[in-house]
Formats: sequence, C-alpha cells, structure tokens
Amino acid sequence: MTKKIVIVGGGIAGIYVLRNLLARKSDVEEKMDFTVLKREKSGWVSTCGLPFALRGWYEIDRTEINKPQFFIDQGVDFRTETEVTKLNLEENHVVLKTGEVLKYDFLVIATGRKQFVKETKLEGVYTFNNEDDAKKIEAALNREGVKNAYIRGRGIIGLQAAAAFATRGLETTVHGGPPSLLPSSLDPDMGDLVKERMEKEGIRFILDRREITAIKGREGWVKSVVIGEREEEKEEIPADIVIIGKWMIPEIDLAWKAGVDIGESGGIVTDRAMHVKKGRGHINNVYAVGDCTEVVDGITHRPRLNQLASTAVTQATVIADNILSDISGQPGLYSPCEYCFGPTVADVGGILMGSVGVTTEAASRAGIKTISGKATKLVKARYFPGATPLTLKLIFDAYTKKLIGAQMVGEAGVAERVNELGVAIRAGMTAEEMRNMERCYDPSQALLIDVTIDAATKALGITPVY
Ligand SMILES: Cc1cc2nc3c(=O)[nH]c(=O)nc-3n(C[C@H](O)[C@H](O)[C@H](O)COP(=O)(O)OP(=O)(O)OC[C@H]3O[C@@H](n4cnc5c(N)ncnc54)[C@H](O)[C@@H]3O)c2cc1C
Repeated sequence: MTKKIVIVGGGIAGIYVLRNLLARKSDVEEKMDFTVLKREKSGWVSTCGLPFALRGWYEIDRTEINKPQFFIDQGVDFRTETEVTKLNLEENHVVLKTGEVLKYDFLVIATGRKQFVKETKLEGVYTFNNEDDAKKIEAALNREGVKNAYIRGRGIIGLQAAAAFATRGLETTVHGGPPSLLPSSLDPDMGDLVKERMEKEGIRFILDRREITAIKGREGWVKSVVIGEREEEKEEIPADIVIIGKWMIPEIDLAWKAGVDIGESGGIVTDRAMHVKKGRGHINNVYAVGDCTEVVDGITHRPRLNQLASTAVTQATVIADNILSDISGQPGLYSPCEYCFGPTVADVGGILMGSVGVTTEAASRAGIKTISGKATKLVKARYFPGATPLTLKLIFDAYTKKLIGAQMVGEAGVAERVNELGVAIRAGMTAEEMRNMERCYDPSQALLIDVTIDAATKALGITPVY
C-alpha cells in the first residue's frame, strides 16, 4: 500500500528529509507519496548563501537551488504559499488554511524558527531569515542615499549582514549584549579577535545591555534607532537600514497546539529517532527536524538549541532511515541521532571563525572545570603565498584532560580543523594524545608543528617548540 508522507516546512530541514527519501525510494518495495507544505514561493533555497549574495558575490536568485517544479516533476505534491493551521495527531491529518484536510501515514514537522520583532510600519527595518528578507534588504541597499546601517544582534547572521553592508560602503553599527561577539560559539578572548578584525573594516560595535527604545523614520522610511532607557544613557544611531538579527525562537506553534512536548530550550523534544514526544510516550509516525527542535549537547548532555543547517541535515538522514525502516519492516535501516557537538564555521567578511564543543562559559554552567591552551601560528610555511595566521583555543576537562571544545579565528584552515577537532572530541582524545598526535606535513599546505599541537601543549602548561 502507498504510504503518504507529509512534510510541514520546505526549508533546508524539510527539503533534506524529502531529498533523502526521493534518493532512496527504491530501497523499499512499498510506494511513497510525498507532500511538502511551505509558506514561501520558492523551492529549495540555500539560506546559508544569502549573506554572500548581499555582499555582491552573486544574485539572490542563485541561492534557489531547485524550483518547486523540480520536485513536482518527480511526483511530489509540492505546495508553496500554503499555510498549515492544525496538526491532528490522533486522526493522522493536517489542516490547511483553506480548510483542506490531508491524511498522512508519516508526518514530519520542519517548521523552522521565527523571530520576536516589535511591530514597526517603517520600511527599511528587516529580519534576515530567508530569501524574502534578503530581497527586501537588497532593494533597500539599492535605494539612493543609503549611508548608515544598524544591526541588532552579535551572532553569525548579524555579523554576516554587517560584513555585507561594510563591503558595500555603509557606515555600519553592530549592537549586542556584552562582553563580546558570537557568545554561543566563542569565549570573549576569541570573540574579541573577530571584533578587532571587523573594526578594521570600519564596523562599529556597541556591546552593552541597552535595548532599542525607539525606531524613528521620515516619510515612511527608517532614519535612526534610539537605544537606552534613561535619558543619560540614550543614544540615537543614524540608520537607513535596520536588521534585527536576534530574538530567534523555534517555530513550535502548530506542534504545541497539537500537544507535542516542548523542551526547556523552547524547541520540540524528540527521541534519538527524531520522533516527537506527547505526554508519556513518543509518537512513532511523527518526526520533527531542524530549527524547530532541541538537541542534546554532546558535552553537557543537556538540551539546547543548535539552529544550523548542518544539524538539520544530519537529523534529516536519521528521519529518512527510520521512515524507510518502518515502511519496510527492516530494522537494519534504522539509525539514531547522535549527540550534538555543534560544529560551526562562518565567514564574516573574510574573517573566518570556527568552533565545536562547548565554550568555557557553557562548561562552567554545566559544572565542568576546564583548562585551556591558545596559540597563533601560520597555516602553512612562512615562505609560501597565503601563509596567514590562525589563532586556536582548545578547552579540556580539567579532570579527565579530554578535549571538550575548540575555537578558532583566521583567514584559512578553519573548516577542516573544526571537523578534525569535532572527531577528536567525539573520540575522547586527551591533551596529551593531541600533543603527541602524528600529523601530515607539506610546506605548501601545513606546518611541521601545527597550531593544534601548540595549543594542546600550552593547555598542559608546557612551553611549545618555536
Ligand atoms: C542568513 C543566514 C545564514 C545562515 N548560514 C548558515 C551557515 O552558513 N551554516 C549553517 O549550518 N547554518 C546557517 N544558517 C542556519 C540555517 O539556515 C538554518 O538552520 C536552516 O535554514 C533551518 O532550516 P529549517 O528548515 O529548520 O527552518 P526554516 O528555513 O525556517 O524553514 C521552515 C519552513 O517551515 C515553513 N512553515 C513554518 N510554519 C508553517 C506553517 N504553519 N505552514 C506552512 N509552512 C510553515 C516555512 O514556510 C519554511 O518553509 C543560516 C541562517 C540564516 C538566516
């Protein structure tokens, strides 16, 4: 019998569940019917590519990797500009705003995230969550006389927007809380390195606890942002374009109204197979994936959010495995979701940051005492072109000496080290093992003694060889 799979959400998470199942539909004898329901007009968009489009590297439309027709041609009922208003988990159906009822055998909740933004009627004030936002921002940037940008939020999205605006010649101010940038990924000493480098590109930072108290406009367009409550702390920042890059929360309204458990971090709770939980048990034919879910941290073992495409795609693979296993009755296809170590990389205007595992503060909140080592070294031999420095910080559990976090800032060599150090964390490698680990060498690609060795050596209180 044909199995009906309904996916609510056509962001990266929903699309990757679909892509996995389409690629593997011949793994099972049974037929599958797919329905994807999403609000936007687009097909599959690489949200992560949008900041670079704003930097002028390519057109925004190039981030739409597949149009809806691509999926429709494969027999998918791919519905854009469609609103789902209800999930009925008892009767296995979803209800659309039009009143239409769609039955399912398997439901995937992939509703992403949303932002709490105070209403303003002024043009020029935007969030930066998807291609529709990017198009509005691009149009605003192309208006005559646009000189100043204000960004609320010191996370990756805020910094990438700032880098784009600065590249395009705008006076750019980034405003966020203290003490430094990217606090969920970097310790303050590492966040300060990013800040110093971005300041050199002309970006101004305000890192304090003041909130926006007014957004002023002229003839319907934003002109300035006022921050600070008390008269003596008030500051008016000129702004022809405003990006609100914070207050991002999981979009769980449909799931919550359907009685699905929401965790302490605000995301949908799942088991390791990505089934949602309702009351006492998990529901075997209802899954959740992506930014709307919470993950279990690999170091603290506590629930938290990790709203990244890289997390969504690993969850999507697990869901596809489990749907195929259920449909075919082959337990061998089943797979569980691993703990989350949150490998992260970002290019903020040519400055690359990377992290994996916990920050010192996150470790401390979980009651873990740490030792750490930090080193700066070139990524290849000094006589080779492109030999740029990389600063690397390694964080170890002070008791076991096992690696629990890594952070880096540089211009090259970041993504591969984040992945390598993620493997080292998962393998439970200690500072001694990392210090003595054999590594490859070729002067055009690496140093004889890598920065990783120096950072591990310093964490042990030993002076590295220079
Ligand atoms: C500018 C930017 C840059 C980023 N860069 C990176 C990066 O470099 N690396 C990385 O790993 N991550 C990056 N991310 C994060 C990454 O894009 C997200 O984690 C990912 O897109 C989440 O996908 P999702 O499908 O869970 O959510 P979303 O993309 O939010 O999709 C949710 C979907 O659900 C639909 N939906 C919700 N409610 C309903 C409803 N009631 N009815 C119908 N449809 C509904 C929406 O229409 C949407 O289609 C970036 C994010 C942004 C905004």
